[in-house]
Amino acid sequence: MKFDTVIIGGGLSGLVCAIRLSQQGQRCVIISSGQSALHFSSGSYDLLNTLPDGKEVGNPFSVIGDLIEQAPDHPYSKLGVDKFPVLVSRAEQFFSGIDVPLSGCGQKNHYRVTPMGTLKPTWLSASGFVTSDNADKLPWKSVSIFNPVGFLDFYPQFIADEFLKLGTESDIHLFNLPDLDYLRRNPSELRSTNIARVLDKNVDEVANILNDKSEGSEAIIFPACIGLESDAFLRLQQAVRKPVLLIPTMPPSIIGIHTQQYLHDYFLKLGGVYMLGDSVKRADVEDNAVKRVYSFNHGDIPFAGKNIVLATGSYFSQGLIATSDSVYEPIFNLDVSYSTDRQEWYNSKIFEPQGYQRFGVKTDNSFRGMRNGKIIDNLYVSGAILEGFNPIKEGCGAGVSILSALSIAESILNK
Ligand SMILES: Cc1cc2nc3c(=O)[nH]c(=O)nc-3n(C[C@H](O)[C@H](O)[C@H](O)COP(=O)(O)OP(=O)(O)OC[C@H]3O[C@@H](n4cnc5c(N)ncnc54)[C@H](O)[C@@H]3O)c2cc1C
Repeated sequence: MKFDTVIIGGGLSGLVCAIRLSQQGQRCVIISSGQSALHFSSGSYDLLNTLPDGKEVGNPFSVIGDLIEQAPDHPYSKLGVDKFPVLVSRAEQFFSGIDVPLSGCGQKNHYRVTPMGTLKPTWLSASGFVTSDNADKLPWKSVSIFNPVGFLDFYPQFIADEFLKLGTESDIHLFNLPDLDYLRRNPSELRSTNIARVLDKNVDEVANILNDKSEGSEAIIFPACIGLESDAFLRLQQAVRKPVLLIPTMPPSIIGIHTQQYLHDYFLKLGGVYMLGDSVKRADVEDNAVKRVYSFNHGDIPFAGKNIVLATGSYFSQGLIATSDSVYEPIFNLDVSYSTDRQEWYNSKIFEPQGYQRFGVKTDNSFRGMRNGKIIDNLYVSGAILEGFNPIKEGCGAGVSILSALSIAESILNK
């Protein structure tokens, strides 16, 4: 099967790269073994919240020089001072161009609310989620927080306690619907996805409850468990007489699942081919170029492309595998940067940066992978699998996945 570009991995990075290439007329296939980290997403994309030395970042554009000094292998360092801001604004245009509504900009981090009610800096947030321009203040003096009775993946009291520290008072309301009783018979079924399916069908009833019980507050805070497959959240906002804002719940993430599905459908509309549930297991590399890749489902029938993009994620998605003494990349056996001293993998203080989080696939500045130190000309490596960054401590996970994908698409298109 021949394509212009074969993309291995259909998470945020693989999808962004594939859509960008397809928009420019390339014939692309995505082969993806499973669902992605998007299913756990907060609804916000982080660009850069903290430098490796611990300094907090307000304007990511202004600290790229410092980042390059502190972390020369960081994916943003490979982009360089000039290209980083260009790709950030291209990413913002990319999402608005495909009608993914996000707020925020790369020149100034804003703040989102975590499931525990604390504020955390970020780059782009899904529309309808609670955000603030300030680290110590919310836009309201009083809010009403709602939660379905018995839903344990959302914590109204923690949120109310944190909001009070920011000067916002909350009243908490638990609500019920007859259809939720059916789910409640089995506590393990009372998860965000199942609740969303019920709420999506009962928007008018939910709107009545919110209107009745929120007198006196300026805004309504609602768990992000609505709007899985429809425009239900938009209809809820329209039917309620004051602003309704979402806060992420514990996974699964409704906004993440919705985004994954939306990007998948968008790619298909552009003529892309998406093979979900198939895993790439090996490849033929000849003369420093990938000639063919083979998957479990297609056996001896290979996929061939002028270019290959490896976007298989980190340990979480098995793009990287850790054994007791090494870390390797399982499809191409690409060079991986990791410490051979196992003591350096972990820090016993669990909230400190962990060494293993910076391990990843080595690339050149165009994100081409290498084997035994030799660049493979047509193999690009994108997203969470890359070396040199700590998505948790630096708050740069989605930013790395999106910017590396766009940079690779540009390199392929300019070839
Ligand atoms: C649990 C979790 C939550 C996160 N939440 C956030 C957040 O809220 N905000 C933020 O900014 N960042 C977040 N991140 C950081 C995250 O890494 C990025 O945001 C981003 O979604 C990663 O996308 P990716 O496409 O690079 O990798 P992934 O999302 O991991 O996707 C990799 C894909 O490759 C597939 N794959 C793996 N091996 C193969 C194979 N052999 N053949 C075919 N397919 C294969 C996997 O099934 C998967 O679909 C989170 C990370 C994790 C792990």
